[in-house]
Amino acid sequence: MVSIEEAFSLIRDTVIPLAEQSIPLSESAGHILRRSVVADRDSPPWRKSMMDGFAVRASDVTANRTPLKIIETVTAGDSPKRSVEPSQATRIMTGAPVPEGADAIVMIEQCKIDKESMTVVIELDSIPPGKHLMEKATNFASGDEIFQPRRRIRPLDIGLLAEIGATTVPVSFKPTVAILPTGNELVGVDEFPSGAQIRNSNGPMLKAMLESRGLDVTDLGIGLDDPDQMNPLLKQGLKHDLFLLSGGVSAGTLDLVPHLLSQLGVEKVFHSVKVKPGKPIYFGFHSRADGSRGYVFGLPGNPVSSLVGFRLFVEEAISRMCLEAKSKSTPQLAKLSKDHETRGDRPTFWPAKRVASPDATLVVEPLNWNGSSDLVALGHAEGLIAFPPEGKLYPVGSEFPFWVL
Ligand code: AMP
Ligand code: MG
Repeated sequence: MVSIEEAFSLIRDTVIPLAEQSIPLSESAGHILRRSVVADRDSPPWRKSMMDGFAVRASDVTANRTPLKIIETVTAGDSPKRSVEPSQATRIMTGAPVPEGADAIVMIEQCKIDKESMTVVIELDSIPPGKHLMEKATNFASGDEIFQPRRRIRPLDIGLLAEIGATTVPVSFKPTVAILPTGNELVGVDEFPSGAQIRNSNGPMLKAMLESRGLDVTDLGIGLDDPDQMNPLLKQGLKHDLFLLSGGVSAGTLDLVPHLLSQLGVEKVFHSVKVKPGKPIYFGFHSRADGSRGYVFGLPGNPVSSLVGFRLFVEEAISRMCLEAKSKSTPQLAKLSKDHETRGDRPTFWPAKRVASPDATLVVEPLNWNGSSDLVALGHAEGLIAFPPEGKLYPVGSEFPFWVL
């Protein structure tokens, strides 16, 4: 049995990051960036008007209200042809380049145009130079690093990547994933369980968790606790970069998964982690013909155990495979909203929800929870409180790591 920290470092040491690929910008959201993205031009590319109005020399805007001669009109997409000399103004639209000579933009609402004389009176006593215009390269300059490698590209990042003309983006390959819940007692969600049967909760839950990370999931159905039925399914699963099983990894007479995996050439990295729930979790890998590795997790059958194993260890492996920088394995510190008693000698991950706090501190309420088979508490949970491995009554206000779900 290994500690949680040992399990993390074993995962990081075992997992070899996947290769890099270049994909179209429009498909890149959700992928992990592999290289620095550098600007190919300045932003803004020119001194730019931020308002519809007039480009003027600030020194021409005085309480005298002297009319200024309108010399041209520049719309976005146009370039100014004339520089603004004293007592002149250029009609300008938002986004258009500011003509030379001008050093401020007056909003159209503060201008009175006389069409006959082609002049404009600025209804202001003064204007500070630089008003309503943005200097060239204020946001970034050509050659600046826009994004650092190993970041998850968010949908909103696509706008900036488009601005710098990143038609393709260097990202990590995403792992292909297969899932196989196992257990003679399991029936599909669409079936009504009879006798000692229960519905397969883990399969749909794990599939959804993986898909929410943008991964394609092959659902292998349900494995029975029978080597002849299970072996072909295991062989199928091992064709994927990541293979998640649930059930069949603890100490029951029908817990065949680790043994069958080892017969198929999977090398065990750990089996059992000091964690509650989820102790019997199994992690292994196998080397493939092309030199790459495939990774296998045997998650415990009880749904909350499966979820905790996924949240802690599978997510760590996926982050490592994709070379994601900010590992999600960094919990936040939270205070208990009420007394809470724990039992046992393993670190315990307890479903909890956030509650309002008078200041900026994170305050969480441990939920009523009947243990690893009780999904109701998870339904209300926003995260898991990590209690230390000791049975103890912790008073309200005690601080613990909180793993956001
Ligand atoms: P096991 O790890 O196979 O010993 O299973 C532990 C417990 O989890 C047993 O009560 C199983 O019935 C239950 N279980 C196993 N797989 C699933 C699943 N896919 N969905 C819901 N419960 C499960
Ligand atoms: Mg079982």
